[in-house]
Amino acid sequence: MQEEINSLWKSCLSQLSKKVKKHSFHTWLKPTQAEVVDNHSFAILVPNQFAADWIEERYHQTISEALAEVSAKEWQFGLKIRKPSFQTEMFSPVIEEPQGPSRHQRQRATKLNPRYLFENFVVGDSNEFAYAACQGVSHKPGENRYNPLFIYGRSGLGKTHLAQAVGNEIVGNQNNRRVLYASSEEFTNDFIRSLGNRSTQEFTQFYRSVDVLLLDDIQFFTGKESTQEQFFHTFNALHQAGKQIVLTADRPPRDILGLEERLLSRFSWGLVADIQPPSLETRIAILQRKANNDDIVVPLEVLTYIADSITSNVRELEGALVRLLAYSSLRNKEITVSLTQEVLKDTIRPRLKQVTIEQIQKQVGEFFKISEELLKAKKKSQEIVNARQIAMYLCRSLTSASLKLIGSHFGGRDHSTVIHACSQVTENIKRSVDYKLQLDQLTNRICS
Ligand code: ADP
Ligand code: MG
Repeated sequence: MQEEINSLWKSCLSQLSKKVKKHSFHTWLKPTQAEVVDNHSFAILVPNQFAADWIEERYHQTISEALAEVSAKEWQFGLKIRKPSFQTEMFSPVIEEPQGPSRHQRQRATKLNPRYLFENFVVGDSNEFAYAACQGVSHKPGENRYNPLFIYGRSGLGKTHLAQAVGNEIVGNQNNRRVLYASSEEFTNDFIRSLGNRSTQEFTQFYRSVDVLLLDDIQFFTGKESTQEQFFHTFNALHQAGKQIVLTADRPPRDILGLEERLLSRFSWGLVADIQPPSLETRIAILQRKANNDDIVVPLEVLTYIADSITSNVRELEGALVRLLAYSSLRNKEITVSLTQEVLKDTIRPRLKQVTIEQIQKQVGEFFKISEELLKAKKKSQEIVNARQIAMYLCRSLTSASLKLIGSHFGGRDHSTVIHACSQVTENIKRSVDYKLQLDQLTNRICS
């Protein structure tokens, strides 16, 4: 009996296709089936109530006519809602395929710099925690302990290198995880562009479709409220879906002015790791690694000279070596310390002369025309106190002497007196331009 109904309904649909506009037929009638009820009646199966009402209202008459054309028998029929499992398959409104990422975005997605690998990263005390955290993430992306991973440190200390190393490692594991690296500036520009061409949905979809999001330099979000808002939602969506987020900034989360509290509190869900300037040994090792990569032997004393002169930025450190190597190969000159001094004379600021507490006291005394004895004595005239405070401040900023040692050179005063002197001078510098000029003049005299 069901077969009979099937074939009846097939013929009927074929008639209906001639009577009903093509688009309507495909939308409403074609996806239906018939189910036998008894000898003279059957049900038309539709996916939902809406379709049932629609067909009943508009096509009841037409269906009756079509039935009469294909069968001698008089049939009764009603509409019945099919079990929901077929619903999406057969009748869901046509959802447009989300558009794929634009070419621009796709290119960028793969634009991890292949040079930034864990194996090229020299690990020392200053960066080992961040390094270990990044390795942890690359082994188990999305795991709660490390999500998000927030890496911060001053410019040129390897944040981008580490973040990209995470990406390269995961991509290299070939487990089909989608990795996206973007600077916060790119994120912002993509968002603004999407507002402009009304494609925010595509933007949202794109950033939320990844398994690993590496977002660099988020201090760039400072004061950009609507971008932060977008980022907040992206963050939540990814985090909830167990996707990994790695963020970098040039300062700790709390110090990024204008970053919303709700974002800050999200960051505390994961792990915050800092990178400090590398030690001398690490700096030499970085230079050594770089020279080895280029297959060039550079005397250790040259590496030490560079590492000793550039202390707080690995990018500058590398840049200095690159310049030196280029120069020596172009001019065909042997790499020596004196060649290095010549090539890098503009890059490397002459190091401040090593000065001693005694030298500072002597110079300050001469400058203010006060005897050194008075600087150390208990006397409290305003003039002497001022000179003494400046002398202490300069000892603190120009030498590596401890507070205690400085105090002992000023008539056995204790460290709190030195702290007080330093903060007093700092205050005065802020308050008076003349005071600052005077101090600069004095500093130059001492150091030259
Ligand atoms: P940041 O993003 O923190 O400003 P980068 O990651 O761009 O710094 O690093 C600057 C340069 O220094 C890059 O070429 C990077 O490869 C290199 N670099 C930084 N730290 C290290 C390190 N520990 N070992 C090797 N190279 C490093
Ligand atoms: Mg960077």
